[in-house]
Amino acid sequence: MERPVQLVDVPKSPFICRNLVGGEWQEPTDVEWRDIVSPYTGTVVGKVPLCGAAEVEAVAKKASEAAKTWSKTPLKERTQYLFRFRDLVLANLDRLGNVAALESGKTVAEGKAGVLKGVEILEFALSLQNLDKGDAMDVSRGVQCVTVRQPLGVVAGISPFNFPAMVPMWMFPTAVTLGNAFVLKPSEKVPMSACVIGELMVEAGYPPGVFSIVHGERAAVEGVVDSDAIKAVGFVGSTKVAKIVYGRAANLGKRSLCLGGAKNHLILVPDANPDVAIDGIVSSFIGCAGQRCMAASVLVAVGDCEDLLTKITERAKRIELGKDMGALIDKAALTRLNEAIEMAVKDGATIRLDGRGVAAPKGYEEGYWLAPTIIDNAKGNLDCATRELFGPIITIVRVKTLGEAMKFENTNPYGNATSVFTSSGAVAQYVSVHATSGMIGVNIGVPVPREPFAFGGSKDSRFGVGDMTGMGGVELWSYTKKVTTKWELQSDSTWMS
Ligand code: NAD
Repeated sequence: MERPVQLVDVPKSPFICRNLVGGEWQEPTDVEWRDIVSPYTGTVVGKVPLCGAAEVEAVAKKASEAAKTWSKTPLKERTQYLFRFRDLVLANLDRLGNVAALESGKTVAEGKAGVLKGVEILEFALSLQNLDKGDAMDVSRGVQCVTVRQPLGVVAGISPFNFPAMVPMWMFPTAVTLGNAFVLKPSEKVPMSACVIGELMVEAGYPPGVFSIVHGERAAVEGVVDSDAIKAVGFVGSTKVAKIVYGRAANLGKRSLCLGGAKNHLILVPDANPDVAIDGIVSSFIGCAGQRCMAASVLVAVGDCEDLLTKITERAKRIELGKDMGALIDKAALTRLNEAIEMAVKDGATIRLDGRGVAAPKGYEEGYWLAPTIIDNAKGNLDCATRELFGPIITIVRVKTLGEAMKFENTNPYGNATSVFTSSGAVAQYVSVHATSGMIGVNIGVPVPREPFAFGGSKDSRFGVGDMTGMGGVELWSYTKKVTTKWELQSDSTWMS
């Protein structure tokens, strides 16, 4: 029977990614090129240049020129370009969804959902023209203080592979609307979505250099962080690299916010609503094949949850590869996850549901597939219970009390998301208060705050202050100038006048 799903369309010829420099697409010379391999097919679908400091500087120079005029363009005028870009993104949703899926392994539906989540943040940026009016107050007799928001100049964003369109859209709509020129360094594994976004930014009519793209991996990132012309950096990726980028920027006295990896805990108590819990837990750990920084990774079962665990396993077993769940980013990820499952068994855990060796969708056999996997009876100190695996694997850790569950959550170095599934307000309140993550869910498997509530974790999931979206993004990509004025000498002046 024909599957009622759209698997990715694979282009006939490879997509050549170019840098977007001063509004023009440029193919860098004298650099190495990397193949872009689709996780669906294991075949080359594009090529991306691996740039270094020289190419970054060329992009940053044009961006600096653009920033001079763009920063003086009124906010309400800048917003009009973003309205046009939003319309273009929605008109190109199918294309963007397919490209994101093709290069990252998501399902096409997930690819589109990521774009739409990006649009939500873009819409927050659209609202700045009405919200961001500054503050003014008579602070003393005849003395007034006014705050004025100023752009930083050229700023940059570095993004990971797992959300090729959404993560860049967490950053640049807010940054450019605030009057900055923005340089995007997309993940070298998924640079094609960024190029489509670049095309749409050009079509939206942004002045050349306001939005730029430079491709590459480590050397390009180092070039971005080190560039004198780039005044602030937003990074999203693994904890290891987030720490490196944050440290490098801090050494240069440069502003940065670096979001890292995660090990998200879902706490299940026996009184949970079964429908809500089963759906929330399974969709959290299998969505985007578990390659989400908000994906459930450890299921902490408090007391006797056996009935719920059986139903969760049954539901996860019915997930179809290619239909309900996409592929892993690359062969290395597949090998790493297979090894993690083997290690869990060696360490004494049991496999409740084994996703290894499940048949790939027809026609996509050479892709990188792993079906949902549930590891059970894991001791809390095991690798599978503590380390970020980043795949469709959930590890069940059994504890006797809620206090024990919270202690386990608290000791994990990551702090992106923690959720509890319960019908008890008191239990929900206890977890909300005692969990150490930046984003907490009650009966929600993926507790991503919707805008204007901002996205950002804690502990080793975030280096820097504030959040990446919402008002956090506004603070990241701007500074406030405080202007204090006096026009007359007051007869009854105090020390403040
Ligand atoms: P990654 O850290 O390998 O890559 C992220 C970016 O860093 C890429 O643009 C890459 O080119 C660059 N990079 C890689 N190695 C580098 C190095 N040594 N020096 C400088 N730059 C380097 O991450 P990834 O594998 O692409 O993405 C998956 C990770 O991102 C997971 O850990 C996931 O949890 C995390 N993530 C976090 C969030 C969040 O909001 N906290 C969101 C999405 C993904």
